[in-house]
Amino acid sequence: MNLAKFPRRRYTAYDTPIEFLPNFTKALGGPNIYIKRDDLLEGAGGGNKTRKLEFLMADALAQGADTILTCGAVQSNHCRLTLSAAIKEGLKCQLILEERVANSYNKNASGNNYLFRLLGVEDIRVVPGGSDMMAELEKLAEELRAKGRRPYIVPGGGSNKIGSLGYVACAQEILSQTFDMGLNIDHIVCASGSTGTHAGLVAGMKGENANIPVTGISVNRKEDVQRKAVYSLVQELAEELDIKTPISMDDITVFDGYVGPGYSLPTDSMVEAVQLLARTEAILLDPVYTGKTMAGLIDLIRKGYFKKGENVLFIHTGGWPALFAYTDVTLEEK
Ligand SMILES: *Cc1c(COP(=O)(O)O)cnc(C)c1O
Repeated sequence: MNLAKFPRRRYTAYDTPIEFLPNFTKALGGPNIYIKRDDLLEGAGGGNKTRKLEFLMADALAQGADTILTCGAVQSNHCRLTLSAAIKEGLKCQLILEERVANSYNKNASGNNYLFRLLGVEDIRVVPGGSDMMAELEKLAEELRAKGRRPYIVPGGGSNKIGSLGYVACAQEILSQTFDMGLNIDHIVCASGSTGTHAGLVAGMKGENANIPVTGISVNRKEDVQRKAVYSLVQELAEELDIKTPISMDDITVFDGYVGPGYSLPTDSMVEAVQLLARTEAILLDPVYTGKTMAGLIDLIRKGYFKKGENVLFIHTGGWPALFAYTDVTLEEK
């Protein structure tokens, strides 16, 4: 695969570290757990969207955009990072927030919502849960075009085939780093939401013939729906990148048992995971994505799915600013 043929902006000047987690590993008594610190990417708090935006913003600039539009939930990391990237490029940014949980939008809320305002978002529009977000973005783009502006739409989560190239690049970065470290990774575990991270890693590992399985922990959808969504994006990427290694549905693994009552709603196992990593390694997870994903990893270790002696790499996709919108629940003792 030659990713250099795709236009890319660079927002992070270094490879994010891969670290061993000795205390966390010991506390669980299972496989050796390593972490890819994508929470240390740039963008006022960092996270996986930074990698996707390197390719998406390059596309926006190539099209002569002056305003970036995107959408997300009320505490969206993706919205914060898209706004950050727009600032870096000297572009305006407007957000459409979906109230996936009724009445969850509060103009004065902390966490990412506070950061939208601190970072100087041009405008925020709030729409009810279940709205057709792409249609809302198109409508806003039309309004702006009528005023002579040049909007560019970044899809929810940045998970189209352009944005997902960020995680194909991440797969290459992981392979080069672990080769340097003399480390053989047996499994990769990541959050599976709007699918770009999961699909990009699968496509990247296949494209490099690396044979490292990727396990996605769903943060929202049911297993069958999520597997199909990931697979369809992987197929688009495989075509775009001319990947010859065959890829089948069997290569897409999703566990959906850690969502709890719904997207962004707290679970006991999320709280346990957030507290355990904070208190053994001083690394902050988030309540919506990485906390539930780590809860999945912990449970799969306890069930013997990942075994002692194996090396498991957890992708820390970021999101800790959202903790400040969940302070009470994440301090509860479970
Ligand atoms: C968006 C997000 C994810 C999910 O990644 P997708 O590519 O949308 O599947 C995981 N973790 C954090 C912190 C996120 O903000």
